Amino acid sequence: MQPFNHDYLLIGQGLAGTLLAHFLEKAGKSVFVIGQQNEHAASSVAAGIINPITGRRYVKSWQVDRLIPFARDTYRELEQQFHISIYHQRNILRALFNAKEENDWLARSGEEDYGSYMLDRADLDGYAGKIERAFGYGEVQYSAQVDIGLLVQAFRSYLENKGAYREEPFDHAQLKVREQGVAYKGIKAGAIVFCEGRWAKENPFFNYLPFHGDKGEVLIVRIPDAAFEKILKQQIFIVPLQNGLYWIGSNYVKNPEDDEPTEAGAEYLRSQLERILKTPFEAVEHRAAIRPTVKDRRPFLGRHPEFPELALFNGLGTKGASLGPYWAKHMADHLVNNVTLEEAVDIKRFVKK
Ligand SMILES: Cc1cc2nc3c(=O)[nH]c(=O)nc-3n(C[C@H](O)[C@H](O)[C@H](O)COP(=O)(O)OP(=O)(O)OC[C@H]3O[C@@H](n4cnc5c(N)ncnc54)[C@H](O)[C@@H]3O)c2cc1C
Repeated sequence: MQPFNHDYLLIGQGLAGTLLAHFLEKAGKSVFVIGQQNEHAASSVAAGIINPITGRRYVKSWQVDRLIPFARDTYRELEQQFHISIYHQRNILRALFNAKEENDWLARSGEEDYGSYMLDRADLDGYAGKIERAFGYGEVQYSAQVDIGLLVQAFRSYLENKGAYREEPFDHAQLKVREQGVAYKGIKAGAIVFCEGRWAKENPFFNYLPFHGDKGEVLIVRIPDAAFEKILKQQIFIVPLQNGLYWIGSNYVKNPEDDEPTEAGAEYLRSQLERILKTPFEAVEHRAAIRPTVKDRRPFLGRHPEFPELALFNGLGTKGASLGPYWAKHMADHLVNNVTLEEAVDIKRFVKK
């Protein structure tokens, strides 16, 4: 007789928990999720930008050639499953502030491997007269914006409807680790996977890992005279959302004391936006969250070194929208089929002392 009610118990249902649950179910496994909705969860504050070309040197993000197509296919599949629209293909207009930046952009876009992602001539149609022009612009394609918040909500309703979700703070002290399984307040599962985002720092089983956590603040604004369709990166990001709203962000605060929005953060974003826009805007929301960043900026996947029934899926950092799908599938393959984890993401790279 099957001794467990569920194959996997997942803790936390942000993007990480959602995607892992999705792939475990696709592999034919049953999941039960315990989560606590939190307005400061990264997944409900993020813009969800997928950007293949990043940094001052315009380099391809780690593994984009395989991550982006996989992410797109996963989000499209979830759109169909839940009848929602979450994956918005949008080019990114990248402001270039001087001749050197423009030259560097042109040189990079001419490189083999980069041409498909970078356009040397940007099309600013729709922005004319609405923004202060920078020195020049490059344009990125195969970029996108994912409505992570909507995906998480839709997946939660789905779990609730089939009685596979419980809304409560998980209390680690009450977890019982048994031979070949775990038990928690009447729930029995073959294994537990923690998907707690930046709260994993407080997880007594995995807090030996080098979690960081960088805070970011965002404004949601209305720009009545604009109908921008691309993502603009001009110091800050201006990202079109639904209903005439735009996501404006973000700053990076290392070692934050808390996850609350601050007046200084709002003022920074407002003043940046005033410098860029030639048309009025109205802020409708101001939010903050801590990104689940980690020491070497690679996801954290794996089982606990002493208790293999305990596992972790975390470290999606600043790039959950692009990293999440591929590594959630990899984690599910590891859990279900014992597929060896890639070294770069395996938590074995950090030794528990
Ligand atoms: C300002 C900002 C901008 C960002 N922009 C982008 C972007 O443009 N593109 C991109 O790809 N990424 C972006 N990110 C990063 C992205 O948000 C994250 O990579 C991703 O959402 C992390 O998902 P997660 O599920 O690991 O964490 P979270 O979303 O934080 O989810 C963790 C969940 O676990 C729950 N939880 C934790 N502990 C417990 C417990 N004990 N009991 C019950 N529940 C618990 C929490 O309440 C939460 O719901 C941004 C992040 C921020 C903050």
